[in-house]
Amino acid sequence: MSEHQQDFSRHQSLFQTNIEVASPSESSELWLKEMDISPYDLPYVHEALQQSFEDWRKETGSLPLSKHSSWVIVDHEGAYTSGEEAVYSLLDGPHAKLLQHCLLSHELVYDVIEHADYPLFKGQVLCVVPILSRSGQLVISVLACVIPRHISDSSGLDAIEATALHYHSCFFRRYEYIFVSDVMKIQKNAEREASRRSILFQIMQRMHDQIDVDTVLTEVLDSIAVLYPSIKLSLFMSQDHQHSNPKVRPLIFHPWGEDICVRAFMDGRLMIQDCKEAGEEDMVEIGIPLGGKQGIYGVFHLKMTRDLKEDLDLQLITMVIDTAGNAFENAKLYEQSNLLIHELRLINELTQRLNQSLQLADIYQFANEELLNIFNADFCCFLQYNEECNMLEVVSCNEPSLSKDMFNASYGFGGLVFEKKEPVILSDYHLNTKVSSKLMEVTGSQSLIATPLTVNGKVIGAILLTHRSPHFFSYDNYRLLQTLSSHIGLSVSNALLHAELRRMANRDMLTDMYARHYLDEAIQEYQTNDFCGSLIVVDIDQFKQVNDTYGHQKGDKILKQVSEIVKTSIRKQDIPARWGGEELAVYLPQMGVHQAMKVAEVIRSRVAQETNPGVTVSSGIAEWCIVDDKISVDSLFYRADMALYRAKNSGRNQIQIEDINE
Ligand code: GH3
Ligand code: MG
Ligand code: MG
Repeated sequence: MSEHQQDFSRHQSLFQTNIEVASPSESSELWLKEMDISPYDLPYVHEALQQSFEDWRKETGSLPLSKHSSWVIVDHEGAYTSGEEAVYSLLDGPHAKLLQHCLLSHELVYDVIEHADYPLFKGQVLCVVPILSRSGQLVISVLACVIPRHISDSSGLDAIEATALHYHSCFFRRYEYIFVSDVMKIQKNAEREASRRSILFQIMQRMHDQIDVDTVLTEVLDSIAVLYPSIKLSLFMSQDHQHSNPKVRPLIFHPWGEDICVRAFMDGRLMIQDCKEAGEEDMVEIGIPLGGKQGIYGVFHLKMTRDLKEDLDLQLITMVIDTAGNAFENAKLYEQSNLLIHELRLINELTQRLNQSLQLADIYQFANEELLNIFNADFCCFLQYNEECNMLEVVSCNEPSLSKDMFNASYGFGGLVFEKKEPVILSDYHLNTKVSSKLMEVTGSQSLIATPLTVNGKVIGAILLTHRSPHFFSYDNYRLLQTLSSHIGLSVSNALLHAELRRMANRDMLTDMYARHYLDEAIQEYQTNDFCGSLIVVDIDQFKQVNDTYGHQKGDKILKQVSEIVKTSIRKQDIPARWGGEELAVYLPQMGVHQAMKVAEVIRSRVAQETNPGVTVSSGIAEWCIVDDKISVDSLFYRADMALYRAKNSGRNQIQIEDINE
């Protein structure tokens, strides 16, 4: 009993408001009747004594005895508890012995009041009755009264005994009620605990059944909302998570301020603080990290009134969130393994597509289309560094206005990625103050992921993907782009090698001019599209003699010098080739013989002036025109050769145009 009675004061309100609450069943009533006060309970019965005195007074107030008497109740140590203080002053003063006597004898004792200090009571009788425990062994309290002398006969004293018994039953009724309500409270707590366990168990089971991260988060948000509907709840996730639930928001790492969520995330522990915002002075905010064994993924933010905070079962919420953290982590791992499989499939598909061609332009085009698909991006741009002009050139972009652009090698995100050789992720272009980007501006994009394009360990450009919505790309996207870019890099490298191989196959090693077969094919190609064109054949004069005089090696050098003069005397679109031996040829698309003559003359005079040891060249020129009958490549070569032959025969170091009569 003592344990329960320690809770007296806490039960007081319950007593006063709902005295009928305790309606024990019959069996417990019997059992209760056997409950008794022990000496250990005595220090805690004070309030019950007062309460039962009030109850007793109400119930006996109308009795004649009550009308003619004054009553007081004192505790087992004789201290005033409730009732007439004047009566108590008798027990505390002249009749203290009477009280002591009663406490010792456990019997009703009385005395006539004679003391002059109490004129009101003078001549009346002071009766003191012990209120005993059920066993009769222990004095719980003492009821004392002053009654007129004329009723202090034996029947009067019997009436007082009866009244004391009434008080006794009032007291035990209180005592039983307290006991029952204590038991009820304990039961209520146990029920609450059981329900808490049950909720937790259900939540845990539901969460661990989930293999989808979004469902886990929805589950935990809903669970807390059910447990505490009036809490304002949000979940702030670090950037690599996107969720359709409006309660899930990205955790922004402001370098300033004392954001409770950022602190909870950084420290990995629960944080509580008073709200600082105006109008929320009576609110408290709590940040609880959502984490698993491998790290922290976000922070639950709870906002509530201070009163609610007192009632909050933080331990339960923390347990729910811890469970959610583990379930989230499991779901995430599952998702990651799926993602990995998905990535491997993507890589496989991408490389298959890229391997369909060895043409660089095709590869950029395919890669562009594939990346747009894979990332659901709005725009994709491939930039390649052009060494000649030190610029980044757009080699593929699905935004037509940018498709042929050239940018300074340090401009924009492409420049940043290219120069720093590191990937970039941008959540919101509007919040970015450092880098200006035409791609972002023109396309109205807000999110970006970009990565360097590396070929054989050398950064040769950049890949940029953008989206019009902010926070569109996840860290997983960012990482995947890097993986894919290395595969694209491999394909680009293959295409570059292939192009180099083709270039080498079409080139003459000594002069770095095109090989004859390439010239043949090129002329054929031009003849299908163009209107006209000219061929100059250049042959070094008396070259055998040069070789004989200076040796073959020197002869090679002279041949190179002449080749260089030829290459630098023609337009970009003209095709210089080594036709064979020391004979060179230049095809001039869309140029007639007379203009070709001027070019040949430049070559002739430059060779005469610039070669060392000095040599001269003779040239023959022929042209074709769409209106002619004989436009074959062979015929063109033949006619140019004939003209050359004439030049040789006419004294060398000169140019001859084909004779149309030949
Ligand atoms: P011309 O053309 O003025 O009639 O006299 P030529 O001595 O140049 O006679 P021709 O064109 O018939 O002779 C070609 C010579 O060029 C033969 C060979 O010794 C030399 N020659 C051909 N190819 C090379 C080469 O790759 N290197 C060197 N050093 N000489 C070559
Ligand atoms: Mg010659
Ligand atoms: Mg020759």
